[in-house]
Amino acid sequence: MKGKSNFHKKNNNPHQNRVSNFTPNKGKKEAAPKVNGGVFVYSKPLSVGELSKAIAVPANDIIKALFMQGKMVTINQILDDEAIGTVCLEFGYDFKKEKIVDAAHFEDIEIVDDPENLVERPPVVTIMGHVDHGKTTLIDAIRSSHIVDTEAGGISQEIGAYQVEINGKKITFIDTPGHAAFTAMRARGASVTDIVVLVVAADDGVMPQTLEAIDHAKAAGVPIIVAVNKIDKPGANPHKVLEELMAHDVIAEEFGGDVMSVNISAKKKQGIDELLEMIALKAEMLELKANPNRYAIGTVLESELDKGEGPKATLLVQNGTLNAGDFVVVGETYGKIRRMTNEHRSVLKSAPPSTPVSVIGLSSVPAAGDRFMAFPEERQAKEVAEERALAKQNEARSGTSAMSLSDLNNLVNAGKVKDINVIVKSDSNGTAEALKANLEKMSTDKVKIHVLLASAGAISDSDIMLASASHAIIFGFAVRPDARVRQLAEENHVEIRLHNIIYEVLDEMEAALKGMVDVEKVESVLGEAEIRHIYKITHVGTVGGSYVTSGLLKSGAKVRLIRSGVVIYDGKLGSLKRFKDDVKEVKDGYECGLTIEGYNDIKEGDRVEAYELVEKAE
Ligand code: GDP
Repeated sequence: MKGKSNFHKKNNNPHQNRVSNFTPNKGKKEAAPKVNGGVFVYSKPLSVGELSKAIAVPANDIIKALFMQGKMVTINQILDDEAIGTVCLEFGYDFKKEKIVDAAHFEDIEIVDDPENLVERPPVVTIMGHVDHGKTTLIDAIRSSHIVDTEAGGISQEIGAYQVEINGKKITFIDTPGHAAFTAMRARGASVTDIVVLVVAADDGVMPQTLEAIDHAKAAGVPIIVAVNKIDKPGANPHKVLEELMAHDVIAEEFGGDVMSVNISAKKKQGIDELLEMIALKAEMLELKANPNRYAIGTVLESELDKGEGPKATLLVQNGTLNAGDFVVVGETYGKIRRMTNEHRSVLKSAPPSTPVSVIGLSSVPAAGDRFMAFPEERQAKEVAEERALAKQNEARSGTSAMSLSDLNNLVNAGKVKDINVIVKSDSNGTAEALKANLEKMSTDKVKIHVLLASAGAISDSDIMLASASHAIIFGFAVRPDARVRQLAEENHVEIRLHNIIYEVLDEMEAALKGMVDVEKVESVLGEAEIRHIYKITHVGTVGGSYVTSGLLKSGAKVRLIRSGVVIYDGKLGSLKRFKDDVKEVKDGYECGLTIEGYNDIKEGDRVEAYELVEKAE
């Protein structure tokens, strides 16, 4: 039953000595959920009814217990792990989820290869850094001087990943400079990068996106190699760059740290070989290995629907070997690799670990970040794809939730959480740093609080993706996410806690650790409007000609005035008018005129967020 042995069976096909990743599950049954010595053991999401039967507690009591925690459920509703945990603790059981690793959940398979089957594989590298610091120029410099496939001629490149060779060793680059792709992948649970090359321009130094890249790499646990670029420029000061980086815990070897760094000029193609040699050296230290003698498993890097050829995807083979003709499951569909090409359109028969390939033959367009697995037989691929479709339906029914503060204590006590990841966004760097220091001080023997990122500025898409990828909670201090960011947070089950007083943030965290989050008063956003015109009216003050962009505004409601994501003023609506008349409320899609009590410095482009405090069941 325990998955691992399933994935070691030899394939009998004499023409292929690759090991299959899969043995059909037919005839095997999952153990029924049961209580064993005070511990409730289960393996998949259960409905309230099923849980009631398994732990011998009336369904009504379960529904009531969850209601008291603020969760409304019905008897047929599938409960997620958190809800199951809450119920178990409430009724005096410990609980444990047994992971049944089956091919339908191949994302979770931890492939353990016999060390003797492992061979070195090329490192997979992503280039990150601040805009204009030279990422694209560096990619071009690397590509033009070190392409592997010389037969293809030129440097025309068809896909967003490629390999180069230095001293007979290959390096795979993922060619999507920028952080969005990296974080989006991680948010989907995919980790493809072994090394991040951080490009910092010597004439500009450490900039906001440099820091963002550092945060992302650190959160993903990926080592950084610093490439100080543009050293050909007159004002370039590489030493200063390394000094600046040190302030952010990226400590170069020359300062006694373990971060390798190299001075380059991407434009003049200087230092490129040194950089590549350094990457190869780092890779050697990381002892990156894979087993080429198994069917491939890996990740979709990009995909498109080609008008002529159908679904087309760039895959990164992470373990095993992908052969043309293999059957591949990706997402909930499967297909046969009809043609496989490298970045120069050369047709490949076989792609060993760390090779990026463009494939056609899939039956639908997968999403970037989807994992794939290859199978020797169509029948197996079909079966797995069907199982995955079913599993996905079940998961959709149960809903998932990321870390939430109010459940933190339960999770900590149940030993499910040892590390709490936090992101702090604030109106100033000073406050962000102060919050970071104080939050981290709250770590105890049981839990460690990691502040992944603490910086000034509005809560952004990138913050949400980082939070989602790292199961982090976001604390916003005197900043407000806009409606779009809020929605993204909701979709990704990311919790955002907003405050305007420092000790409230700390109190809340402390309370959460003790299991006493004050949920009596929670904020509920009523709606948002955009200020489009400003009218100065004698005796009245500044009136904001506004357009309600979501929800509604209510006269007398509490409001915040937000400029570039930062809360400028927190107060109350003064007057609310449509044309000349005072109105009680104005809905989404309508214009209105508004004033804010005691505040006149409204500007065009400001956002007004109306909210109320509502009582929430304990
Ligand atoms: P990206 O936004 O990080 O991809 O940056 P680009 O590669 O587009 O480079 C931004 C600008 O910096 C371009 O005008 C490049 O020509 C220039 N640049 C990049 N590398 C160097 C370099 O090593 N030296 C100098 N002098 N300019 C460079």
